[in-house]
Amino acid sequence: MGNITFTMIKPNAVKSGYTGEIIQRMVAGGFKVRAMKMTELSVKDAQRFYAVHSERSFFNELVEFMSSGPIVAIMLEKENAVENFRKFIGATDPAKADEGTIRKLFGENVQSNAVHGSDSDENAVIESNFFFSEREKF
Ligand code: GDP
Repeated sequence: MGNITFTMIKPNAVKSGYTGEIIQRMVAGGFKVRAMKMTELSVKDAQRFYAVHSERSFFNELVEFMSSGPIVAIMLEKENAVENFRKFIGATDPAKADEGTIRKLFGENVQSNAVHGSDSDENAVIESNFFFSEREKF
């Protein structure tokens, strides 16, 4: 059980001006920011990041959405980070997410669900390394 997870504030939430409030909630929830940057994914970047979903029906739509505007990439630390963070953000579909979760509060629909959260310790490391060099991790 690792203590690192990776998240992105997705284009819809950045565009809506929720970046500050979402980061504040993460920190208040006990997640420590170890690395952070605002950037934009090219179509190729998004295809690479979501390669595991390439066979899913919504892949092209997801890639288009994730490359549609700036995102904020963040590496977070907490004990049992992956599981705790997935509970903290709520279900993939904001309509099914528990009250008070990030996706319930800031998500629009199953695609524009405000934030990403790694699904395993292994992917948390792979995804963090996708965005951050060693000297950008603190
Ligand atoms: P997560 O681990 O909760 O983010 O969910 P998944 O790994 O299943 O899906 C990855 C991302 O794909 C989600 O966060 C959504 O942005 C998007 N997504 C998931 N299901 C759907 C869907 O049915 N339609 C569309 N358009 N996007 C989806």
